[in-house]
Amino acid sequence: MRLTGVIGQRRAVAQLEGEIAAQRLAHAYMFVGPSGVGRATTAQAMFAAVNCTEPTPEGPCGACGSCHRLAAGTHEDFLVLAPPSEARSSQIKVEAVREAIRATGFAPFGGGKRMILIKQAEHLNPASANALLKTLEEPPPNNILVLTVGDAKELLPTLVSRCRKVSFMPLTAEEIAAELVRRGEPEADARLKAGLAGGSLGRALQLDTAVLQADLERLVNQLTAGGQALEDWGFAEDLVGTHRGSGGIDREGISQALDLLALYFRDAAVTAAGRGQMAWLPGPTAELNIADACRAFAQVRRTQGQILGNAAPELAMVVLLAGLKEAPKHA
Ligand SMILES: [Zn+2]
Repeated sequence: MRLTGVIGQRRAVAQLEGEIAAQRLAHAYMFVGPSGVGRATTAQAMFAAVNCTEPTPEGPCGACGSCHRLAAGTHEDFLVLAPPSEARSSQIKVEAVREAIRATGFAPFGGGKRMILIKQAEHLNPASANALLKTLEEPPPNNILVLTVGDAKELLPTLVSRCRKVSFMPLTAEEIAAELVRRGEPEADARLKAGLAGGSLGRALQLDTAVLQADLERLVNQLTAGGQALEDWGFAEDLVGTHRGSGGIDREGISQALDLLALYFRDAAVTAAGRGQMAWLPGPTAELNIADACRAFAQVRRTQGQILGNAAPELAMVVLLAGLKEAPKHA
């Protein structure tokens, strides 16, 4: 049985397909990897594969009662638990876990297997994790538990040891771009988002191309205008100001803005190397030789590290701009 609808993740998919074919599915899985790379999608594909009543050689039929209800989000044997929000303090409450566990006391309604998918299991609080632990010790038959998690170290070791691990990797920029185009994005926008998504389709889908283009234009203008340090300081303050919220400075946000600049120099390097077709950003790129482009790229990455550490972001930005302007062909 094939798993369908999963982008990339060949190893994870091959592992699960093999286990389904050999009828050696575990009763509990831990899907480990960054968010937005297809962990929950894979769990759903796995559920479809084991419950489809009219499977084809290509995978689930998409038309039987089970496939139909799953696609409509109404399958009574596919239970999903997730934290209420992305915030670190957001918790999966013990009541929700207990309710899902109660369901495992009954045979699956559809006659196949039930799946309890716990998304972002790092948000389980200690009470929720303990409630889950008891079920993992003596799982009722025909129930599959899937936990998605970024890092197994964030879960109780007793929980981890009872789950079979499946590893998920960041997606390649090519995989993300192709998926965005398939979903109707223009090619140039898709490549821009894919280049900045850090391997996460989920993140790519949240990016706004118009904002990205405007940010990049501002950065490049500031860089090529050759302005004075004082102007750079004003620019840096502006940039940091747009990433200041009630909780203080959003260092991740500033670093993401700098991702654009890093990509800009990466494109300059591949273009200088005669591989312009590998460029990710639309529009012209800097005319630098390979060494200067690589040096500029490294400077941007170093500044991102400093800002994510505890450096004063305005100062780090001004130092970066001054350093970049020193690059011979930018002067
Ligand atoms: Zn089906």
